Amino acid sequence: MSTETRTTCPYCGVGCGVIASVDDAGKVSVRGDPDHPANFGRLCSKGSALAETLDLDGRALYPEIQGERAGWDQALDLVAETFSRTIAEHGPDSVAFYVSGQLLTEDYYVANKLMKGFIGSGNIDTNSRLCMASSVAGHRRAFGSDTVPGCYEDLELADLVVLVGSNMAWCHPVLYQRLAAAKAARPTMKVVVIDPRRTATSDLADLHLSVRPDGDVALFNGLLAHLVETGKTDEAFVGAHTTGFADALLAVSRQTMAELSEATGVSGMLLRQFFWLFGQTEKVVTCYSQGVNQSAVGTDKVNAIVNCHLATGRIGQPGMGPFSLTGQPNAMGGREVGGLANMLAAHMAIENPADRDRVQRFWNAPVISNKAGLKAVDMFDAVADGRIKALWIMSTNPVVSMPDADRVKAAIKACPFVVVSDMQKNTDTARLAHVLLPATGWGEKSGTVTNSERRISRQRSFLEVPGEARPDWWQLAEIGKRMGFAPHFSFPSPAEIFAEHAALSGFENDGARDFDIGAYADIDAERYEGLTPFQWPQAAGSAGRDTRFFADGRFYHPDGKARFVATPASPRGLAQPSDLPFILNTGRIRDHWHTMTRTGKSARLSAHLAEPFAEINPQDAAKLGIDDADLVEIAGTAGATAIVRALLTDRQAQGGLFVPMHWTGETASRGRIDALVPSMVDPISGQPALKSARVSLRRF
Ligand code: SF4
Repeated sequence: MSTETRTTCPYCGVGCGVIASVDDAGKVSVRGDPDHPANFGRLCSKGSALAETLDLDGRALYPEIQGERAGWDQALDLVAETFSRTIAEHGPDSVAFYVSGQLLTEDYYVANKLMKGFIGSGNIDTNSRLCMASSVAGHRRAFGSDTVPGCYEDLELADLVVLVGSNMAWCHPVLYQRLAAAKAARPTMKVVVIDPRRTATSDLADLHLSVRPDGDVALFNGLLAHLVETGKTDEAFVGAHTTGFADALLAVSRQTMAELSEATGVSGMLLRQFFWLFGQTEKVVTCYSQGVNQSAVGTDKVNAIVNCHLATGRIGQPGMGPFSLTGQPNAMGGREVGGLANMLAAHMAIENPADRDRVQRFWNAPVISNKAGLKAVDMFDAVADGRIKALWIMSTNPVVSMPDADRVKAAIKACPFVVVSDMQKNTDTARLAHVLLPATGWGEKSGTVTNSERRISRQRSFLEVPGEARPDWWQLAEIGKRMGFAPHFSFPSPAEIFAEHAALSGFENDGARDFDIGAYADIDAERYEGLTPFQWPQAAGSAGRDTRFFADGRFYHPDGKARFVATPASPRGLAQPSDLPFILNTGRIRDHWHTMTRTGKSARLSAHLAEPFAEINPQDAAKLGIDDADLVEIAGTAGATAIVRALLTDRQAQGGLFVPMHWTGETASRGRIDALVPSMVDPISGQPALKSARVSLRRF
């Protein structure tokens, strides 16, 4: 006999359903949920190895103060007193929360409510800032809302799928499997991959355009000009449902194919093939991921892509539309509750007084943050210069994952009061905590997550909670109560938090806001327990609606029209010292996740690529006397270095290096690569440019 629990994978934004079985001996096994609409039973290597990552080795099991075991009351009182005192002495903006796309929506909701509605600061930001902030900003500019228009099925219905800056085969593997299966069943479907590297995803491609780093804006501007010149735009759609087309066209400088080829690094022949294919194919989906978002021009990249879909009216229809693939399991849920410093809650705008008033009244809050808080990079700058004096980091490891990671480490070390909530007690960040709060992890906690296609699914617990670990929402609610806001944080379970979140989304929402799950505002514990995956919106009283947004040509700007955004191609992304000859691209590998606190426990996953490496083009390697498997030293602008293994491959274009983001610098290797990445950000989204750092390379 075994017990089975339907839950959701905790890794990428595909959001696959998982059935976890526990047998009489307590042994856990997992398989894909055949009824989950994201994966229909499929799992990738990471998801299928989940049962191998559940041991208690390294777990944080008890609260600690300055490294010594403490009781929960003692730890929580200290956190609440210190935050309250800091706020009293230095104001609400002297404290901050840095949270994570690993949190469940209910955790995120309580964190945002406490910071924005009761502490009264906007200083809550998330590692999702590193993941999809440029997509959020691009959506809001174009649509007037942070709306992903389409769904996964569109990839299967399209006749052309364009993948920009997305190694989907490794980073969203089950979605890639769905795309590959659709292409195998319908070989006339075309796939174009636009990526400086010839990744595993390119193996599926009919065309691979090895674009220059940050050459994407020029490429899509060139496409827009081509669509106009060849009469492929949808003038009726543009006229009825958009504004700004003329200005966007003015910014698209008329370039010869030779000039465009120079700007993008792609041959004229390949550009012509891609432009022709896009122009003559009605059903086009353009998916984009971190290669677009993690750039100093990330928001412009998003809008350059969206412009091409608006110009052709290919949005909101089956098999058509721009499609942002989120990296993390719950980056979308975080966006929904206002987990970003520049958003409010339920997709309302912090800069909008009516939205602030609405949220404050709904929460019956004493105060509401009246301005955006500090975005991730700015937040750690404020920690470094002493403006932030109390910092709570939840479920993330910024000492490894933030750009300029050494500086972030020094800032956290010097911060007067640092609280870390985590499952693991020995992460690079947890080691710097004054107070360590043990958090429950996957299999132990309950709540909801939202995947890239706006589908909300349950994560359910099926394991005993080890030691004294507690859910993040509970920790936050306890601090809220201890700071004097007891009636507002008396949540008995995640079900009540979800109900409040749903009610807020529907509160005074007459359809003017995209995010609305008001149909769940009165959900009780039993219905919550049985909740099956659903896509938003689900407004109260509605019988559900189409799974796609914008089918009716109505957008969320006040005039109901979408905006073209002028995106002049700019070299801003590469404005770094040119005496460092290589451009460093960082990213994920197939079998590890973030800083490996979970996947590192699986020998099977670790066997895929066992140590940090740099992909180097063989011609570059030959010039520097580097052989395959040599150790190489990479140095960044700030003097930080990493020593990794050389992996020579012509999948990497000359002049570039790819190094995975997962390893820390405190293991035998020294692969903490984000220490080499300067903290340059997109000025609109605040998202760091993690894929275009200038570095030097030598044999070690
Ligand atoms: Fe988990 Fe993503 Fe793999 Fe699905 S594709 S099993 S969500 S890591």
